[in-house]
Amino acid sequence: MKDVLQDRSAAEIAAIVEAAGEKSFRARQIFEGLMQGKKIAELPVPPALRALLIEQFEDEPVKIRETFVSRDGTKKFLFELADGNLVEGVLMRYKYGNTQCVSTQVGCRMGCKFCASTLGGRLRDLTAGEILGQILVVNRAEGGNLKERAVTNVVLMGSGEPFDNYQNVVKFLRNLTAEGGIAMSARNISLSTCGLVPEMLKFAEEGIPLNLTVSLHAVTDGERARTMPVANRYKIADILQACAYYFERTGRRYIFEYSLIEGENADLAHAAALADLLKGKPCHVNLIRLNAVKERDLSGTSEETAQAFLKELTRRGISATLRRSMGSDIGGACGQLRARYIS
Ligand code: SAH
Repeated sequence: MKDVLQDRSAAEIAAIVEAAGEKSFRARQIFEGLMQGKKIAELPVPPALRALLIEQFEDEPVKIRETFVSRDGTKKFLFELADGNLVEGVLMRYKYGNTQCVSTQVGCRMGCKFCASTLGGRLRDLTAGEILGQILVVNRAEGGNLKERAVTNVVLMGSGEPFDNYQNVVKFLRNLTAEGGIAMSARNISLSTCGLVPEMLKFAEEGIPLNLTVSLHAVTDGERARTMPVANRYKIADILQACAYYFERTGRRYIFEYSLIEGENADLAHAAALADLLKGKPCHVNLIRLNAVKERDLSGTSEETAQAFLKELTRRGISATLRRSMGSDIGGACGQLRARYIS
């Protein structure tokens, strides 16, 4: 695979243009063109410069190979990378805008028992430009541009563990928020981690005040380890400390994901314990009923159980919401994304 030009910042592209002996305004044309989702071959620059770029970089690092549309309007995209690897992404429509869920790795090695992304392990990390490319091609396909974006919010909740691909993810976030491009506000971006504590602490120093989301799914380390092997490496207490530090550095309240699994973590006693754990912290809890993944024998709770859990948390003073599952009929719901090898 050649290099990915969408990995590069505006300043790095300026250096490439300068080294090629071209006028400096070409750099802005290239950066803007790429951010509009254009291929190198479509950039409005002299043919010689285009040819030089195509020699060194992938013309189309992320392609939409298939689009699936759910009854609820959610779209799932199958993206093909330049080396033939496939990843998936989802676009959800809300009243306030469209949220795209992007993948950060081909597969995942965290091994969560309820998640499809991890079934085949991790094949490779995505580069910064391959993560960004998913947004660029969808924004374009949906009729968006740099002024009027069709993708208004981004969540790093597709396949992969973002903090297991730290450098590329941070670089991606810098390019996604950079002026002159998509220029998305960090407030419209959510990053979800299974709780890699050292990277959480490091990320607090990056100056990117996004919505930090942690997949908790249990109230004790022992119970957590039953479904999340990462619990053997990092304790809930240390995760909470890292969250507190993130709040201290960024002023951003943090979010916990809690997927309700039948017979596992969804009793009222769990709700009470969760409330005790989080009481007084500047956080919010996102509940979701586990989505069935056919290779896994875990299942989600009933709607009634989920409502009762939510009520108990709220009664105990915890800010919480129960999320609707979107796109489950097209395999696009939380935890259902997987690299599917067609052809
Ligand atoms: N690796 C990151 C982000 C990817 S998963 C993380 O662990 O946070 C995004 C969210 O979906 C996580 O909260 C994850 O635990 C949750 N999830 C995974 N499988 C699920 C399933 N089958 N049903 C509901 N949520 C699931």
